This record gives sequence, C-alpha cells and structure tokens, in this order.
Amino acid sequence: MTYPTQPTASHFIGGRYVEDTDGTPIDVIYPATGAVIGKVHSATPAIIEQALASARGAQAAWAAMTGTERGRILRRAADIMRERNHELSVLETYDTGKPYQETSVVDATSGADALEYFGGMAATLTGEHIQLGEDWIYTRREALGVCVGIGAWNYPTQIASWKGAPALACGNTMVFKPSETTPLCALKVAEILHEAGAPAGVYNVIQGLGDVGAALVSHPDVDKVSLTGSVPTGRKVYAAAAAGIKHVTMELGGKSPMIVFEDAEIENAVSGAILGNFYSSGQVCSNGTRVFVHTDIKEAFLTRLSERLATAVIGDPQDPETSFGPMVSARQMEIVQSYIAKGVAEGARLVYGGKRLDRDGYYLEPTVFADVTDDMTIAREEIFGPVMAVLDFEDEADVMARANDTEFGLAAGVFTRDLSRAHRVAAGFEAGTCYINTYNDAPVEAPFGGSKQSGVGRENSKAAIHHYSQLKSVYVRMGDVEAPF
Ligand code: NAD
Repeated sequence: MTYPTQPTASHFIGGRYVEDTDGTPIDVIYPATGAVIGKVHSATPAIIEQALASARGAQAAWAAMTGTERGRILRRAADIMRERNHELSVLETYDTGKPYQETSVVDATSGADALEYFGGMAATLTGEHIQLGEDWIYTRREALGVCVGIGAWNYPTQIASWKGAPALACGNTMVFKPSETTPLCALKVAEILHEAGAPAGVYNVIQGLGDVGAALVSHPDVDKVSLTGSVPTGRKVYAAAAAGIKHVTMELGGKSPMIVFEDAEIENAVSGAILGNFYSSGQVCSNGTRVFVHTDIKEAFLTRLSERLATAVIGDPQDPETSFGPMVSARQMEIVQSYIAKGVAEGARLVYGGKRLDRDGYYLEPTVFADVTDDMTIAREEIFGPVMAVLDFEDEADVMARANDTEFGLAAGVFTRDLSRAHRVAAGFEAGTCYINTYNDAPVEAPFGGSKQSGVGRENSKAAIHHYSQLKSVYVRMGDVEAPF
C-alpha cells in the first residue's frame, strides 16, 4: 500500500494481525481516483472458526472482570482514538472517499465518544432487587456471549465502534466483519482496543463479502448479530438469526421525510436539507431525501439551495478545503446514476446537478429534483447517493400522511417556527429518530435506530445496553417450601 496508516494484515484475531492468503483477494480501491491501494483476503472457513473460537475463549474472563476494569479499557481506547484522530481520519478518507473535512470531525471522534460513553457506563450496569413479602428476587444483568457485528461501508470506524463499545461494556466479546468495500478502518479499532488493554480475543475483525457474514450469522457459537446494512440484507440476516433464536439489532435503510413549513427559517431549512442529503455524498442511512416544501416558499427554498450548492468544494477529499467527495465505488455511482435517469424519465424537474464529473474517481454532482410526486421511483426507493427529491405540499394532515406512506421508518425532520406544530408533527412521524429544526445529529447519548422496515433495536444511549445484555431472575425463598404432596 502507498500510505502509512495501512493495517498490516487482513484480519485481527486473538489480539494480533492474522493473514490467510488462501482467502479470495479483495481489492481496496480509493474512491477519489479509482486506484487499487491495497488488498485484503476474505476469511476462509478456518479463519471464521479461529475468530469465533478466539471470541468464545475470551468471553468468560472478560465478563468476569468488574465493569470498572472493562470500562477503563474502553475509555483508554477512546483516548488513543482521539490522539490518533488525524491518522485515522486520513485512513477513513482512503477507505470511503469521504472528505477529510468530514472524517476529521465525525468518524474516529464519534467512535471515541461511544467507547467513552459505554466505558463510563460499564461500571453502572446492575440488576435490581424485588421484594415479595419475606421472599425476594434479584436480577443479574448478564452478557449475551459472542456477538457478531456486520458493517455497511459508509461509516466503517463509527459502525465498528458503535457495535463494539456497548457489546464489550456488557461483557460480551465480538467478531466484526466490515463491508468488503471499506475493509481497513475496523482493523484499527481492533488494534486500538487491544493496545488499550482488551485481552486477546475480546474484539476480532475478519474480512469478507456476504458469504462470510452469512457464515457468521448462522454459526451455532454466535449469540447475537448486529447488522448495519440495507433492508434486503436485513431480511436475510434476520431470518438466519431467527433459525438459531439469536438476539438481533438491525440498522437498515431509509427514505426519510423532511418537512419544511411555510413559517420555517429558510436558511436553516436549506442547511438541514444539505446536511440531510449531501453530507458524505448522500451516503447516510438516515438522510431526509424526501424534502416536502410548502408551496408558498418552494421557489425561494430552491433558489437558496442552488446558490448554496454552487459553493460546495468538490475535489480531492484529502484536501481539508474539500467539502464534497466521490461516491464510495463505481457500482454505487452507477446505481445512483440510474436513479437520476429514472427521475428525468419519470418527469421530475432537474434543478441542480445530475452529472458525473469529468475527472478520475466516482464523482457525481450534488443533484436536486423538484416537482417530484409520491409515486416516482426517486421518491420511493432508497438511492444512497447525493440526490434530493423536493415535493410540494399545502396541508399539514396531507403531508403527514404522505411522509408516513413508506415501508421505511428510520428518521424524519420538520422545520417550522410553530412550537406546537413541531411537537405534533414529531409525534406523528412513524420513525425512530426525529429532528426539529435540525437534521442528522447522532450523539451517542441518544437512541438511534429505525421503526417499520428500517430496523429492530437501538444503538447508542442507555437503550443499547438492553440489546447487548439479558436479565436473569433469581428467586430466593426465605421460609419453608410448600408442596401439594
Ligand atoms: P449491504 O446490505 O449491501 O451490506 C451490509 C453488510 O452486510 C456488508 O458487510 C455485507 O458484506 C453484509 N452482507 C451482505 N449479505 C449478507 C448476508 N446474506 N449475510 C450476512 N451479511 C451479509 O449494505 P451496504 O451497501 O454496505 O450499505 C448501505 C446500506 O446500509 C443502505 O441501505 C443504508 O441505508 C444502510 N445503512 C444503515 C444504517 C443504520 O444505522 N440504519 C447505517 C449505515 C448504512
């Protein structure tokens, strides 16, 4: 590889880097140039077994440590991650193509936040005491065992940390499989956790495509699966996990609505729409890609949006001045191009962008369609790229029904100055994460996850603890035991 922060082998198992060149090679491609910058090997069956055995072997001793001890290690890992933010951000940019301007403030930093938050929480995890007359019950909050994490390609450091931190805080061990498109960053998370003192086997990373993920999910020695990916993959993983009655967390796709009422502060609404459609070149699951704008302010909104988009700095993502980078892969770029073509063919009005840039790498212009109707493909399907659909509305009840008319339910946003309406609309959204006069904030303190087909369970916050631990009830009789005979 051509850059200094490269992990030294494909997998991280039992506290060290492991290579097995029998596995199918996977090219690591820098999205800004299309150049192959490295190679990893997909996990062979032997590597899968080795990783799971390593996680199983480490689990009991890890769970037996006090929460304070486990938490100290996670918090130390958070500190290391912050100290290495620059180097990790450069790597994240090579892995994903996202601009350094973003990665330096979002990826390792939010990974570190999760490690710090759940590290702090590890010592506070308790059961409860339930008095029943003289008798009593106590509950023990116990680890699930071996957890498998499977990641999407848009936030490789963050996803590896968001799954690893609560899992480890609760006394589980983990085998994490990053997306084959962005295999590098999770290895650094493993390296840092072990440098911080995590015993060998507590956090392992193996590479591979869907077949490796599927082998992990259906393995009898796995107790929980947490997936971040698309709804179709979620269906397969959920079904495979169900066959083994395994715990699941599903962080899946979305087609989230953002409603801009006529009284909204337009500059803020435009900012929200930009953050909710063009950050990370639109490759964000919770993006508000159906932007319903009241007809009274629609043209003003579109004019200001176009003016602001014209100031985007599109270019080399390692340049801190660049604010808009390439798509993650040629495949993803082609998928998005096909949606842009459908938007045009189905009669939407192309207001901004729509073209591939004439340069190396997988660059598309930020793209805005107006006059989009509810039945158009670009208003119904997740595009996962920089394509905003602007739809008209006039009536609150009508727009709410249309906003909720989707099988997805990940996120939703509203821009208005009317306090009552803001909360009424938030309550009416069928979505796991709602925003009032903002969009796409994801602090570790807040539960994050989807309703409807966008997901099962929640990441981050205290809620994540419930998805990485289970309660055991212990009944204690103080007197004699009565029996019928
Ligand atoms: P994807 O579903 O193609 O792949 C996700 C992961 O699942 C990859 O690691 C892949 O190798 C693995 N996989 C594929 N088939 C599998 C199988 N049968 N069994 C086990 N694992 C399998 O998703 P993607 O293209 O990498 O990411 C984009 C999608 O992820 C979008 O739909 C996006 O909305 C979603 N996403 C959701 C969230 C969230 O938190 N809700 C966050 C980021 C991305």
